Amino acid sequence: MRRTLIAGNWKMNGSFAANRSLLTEIVAGLPASSSADVLVCAPAPYLAQCADVLAASPVAWGAQDLSVHAQGAYTGEVSAAMLLDCGCRYVIVGHSERRAYHAESDQLVAQKALRAVEAGLKPVVCVGETLEQREGGQTNQVVGAQLDAVLALLTVEQLRNIVVAYEPVWAIGTGKTATPQMAQDVHAFLRQQIAAKDQELGVSVQILYGGSMKPDNAAELLSMADIDGGLIGGAALKSADFLAIVGAVK
Ligand code: PGA
Repeated sequence: MRRTLIAGNWKMNGSFAANRSLLTEIVAGLPASSSADVLVCAPAPYLAQCADVLAASPVAWGAQDLSVHAQGAYTGEVSAAMLLDCGCRYVIVGHSERRAYHAESDQLVAQKALRAVEAGLKPVVCVGETLEQREGGQTNQVVGAQLDAVLALLTVEQLRNIVVAYEPVWAIGTGKTATPQMAQDVHAFLRQQIAAKDQELGVSVQILYGGSMKPDNAAELLSMADIDGGLIGGAALKSADFLAIVGAVK
């Protein structure tokens, strides 16, 4: 069946010194017989450090964004090839902070997912509704459209290499978590939409939950049928919290 992925999203946090402690503690504290895959998504300047510290460990590392362009005159951008060069296996695309602060559209996010897959990276494609959209009864419509853009642009073969993350915007960094049932309902909806494109893909695709996942709510969220892991922000910056979430995987 589907493996569980526990992914840390460090966002714009860290320093060489802080990262070294955090990563070393994570590697040292990993449960010996965990069935979870573990990933940290670090800011671009620290990806080479992740490669250095994590090389001999089971922990994977990835980036938080990539350029939609392959290479060339795009000042400030980081390409898929550069991320591969730093040993990344994953890259987050379409995080709600990028959608909100960098005006990333559903189409651009889909193009970034395509760029990642073509390069051999696994994109963690984020979708999620705002509080206003949830209260307006538009949750499925919003996350459905965000996912649809990706389903429309990538082939089934390419889609086998994506991970989806459902992150309700109102739950990110707020301490408000979706109840396990609220999250499960959206995950089931997303899986159904993927299955409509390809039945087998619907069964195999990993769908992570993100939004104030913490040691005290992780086990319950991760026990839901369609929740295959977590994308963790705040709690990924403390080794004890992150390890406790990894330890909550059955
Ligand atoms: P949070 O962030 O765990 O701090 O809510 C999750 C995310 O934005 O990926």
